[in-house]
Amino acid sequence: MGLRSQLEAREDKILSPLAARSASSKGRPRPEPECSLRPAFQHDRDRILYAKSFRRLKHKTQVFLAPTGDHYRTRLTHTLEVSQIARTLARALALNEDLTEAVALGHDLGHTPFGHAGESVLQKLLPGGFHHYEQSLRVVDHLENDGKGLNLTYEVRMGILHHSKGRGKFLAAPDEQLDLTLEGQLVRAADVMAYIAHDTDDAIRGGVITRAELPQVVRQVLGDRLSRQIDTMVRDLIDQTLKGGGPRLVMSPQAEEAMLALRDFLYKRVYDNMEVHIDFEKASKVVTELFMRLMEKNEFYQSCLSTPPPADIDQRRMHAADYIAGMTDRYALHLYEDTFLPKPWGRI
Ligand code: MG
Repeated sequence: MGLRSQLEAREDKILSPLAARSASSKGRPRPEPECSLRPAFQHDRDRILYAKSFRRLKHKTQVFLAPTGDHYRTRLTHTLEVSQIARTLARALALNEDLTEAVALGHDLGHTPFGHAGESVLQKLLPGGFHHYEQSLRVVDHLENDGKGLNLTYEVRMGILHHSKGRGKFLAAPDEQLDLTLEGQLVRAADVMAYIAHDTDDAIRGGVITRAELPQVVRQVLGDRLSRQIDTMVRDLIDQTLKGGGPRLVMSPQAEEAMLALRDFLYKRVYDNMEVHIDFEKASKVVTELFMRLMEKNEFYQSCLSTPPPADIDQRRMHAADYIAGMTDRYALHLYEDTFLPKPWGRI
């Protein structure tokens, strides 16, 4: 028996009957010989880790725009925290940790520079709208690997596509039909747990809120410190799901209520707070002007994308959006400066 088959057999032995199994994956967009060493989901995790778009996450905004303070989260540290929480949940519930980690590491690859400021600009500029979760799938399917895509398994791709729930419920309702493995659902929950805890932590660090201002239900149920908040949420989901014994994730009504209260509080006090977003307007202008330039100036398009613009306007728009969405905050700022601001004459 080859090494991969041994690992697949081990999965079969130790994982819950509800877990996804690498050997029973619904497959890849293009069939390929599987790695002799690694099961499919483990291989996918590694492909994402080595992708260029993964490395760019370190210079993309989470909430606070291009923070100069070294301790604020970026998209990369957010992604790693989601992965940590999701893997803890997966291991405790005997679900597939490799699949969980692959989805977690890939879930935000499609995020624009400047966080939601960038996303909402592209949403307005593109006739079909723009959503970071669809873009994340586009990145792994079409843009990475010099346009060939990473050819990931169906389960990882669907986990990435369906990770976002906006302001909706983060656990699937009992009758909800989702094309999502339990591992994919874990990442959805872990994403919320991670961001409500670390955005609270960063907002306190930034002096935007104080611990004492957290809603009472949050302080009572989740506590007012990051480690206790995450610990409480993680343990609640594990305990309730094991108690439920069924094929869905469960949390206690108290924990869910406290999480929703914390998320609402963050929307009000941080995400929609003009003091935090004082530079959002400027960031929106940077993204808008770069996009318009790509649409209007052929030489600019060619110099940025190293190919002449396509004649078809929809195609051109799509490539311009892909290019912009892939930028880090600092790349967008440099390109803007280079394109629109005068440079001092250097010769004496
Ligand atoms: Mg996320």
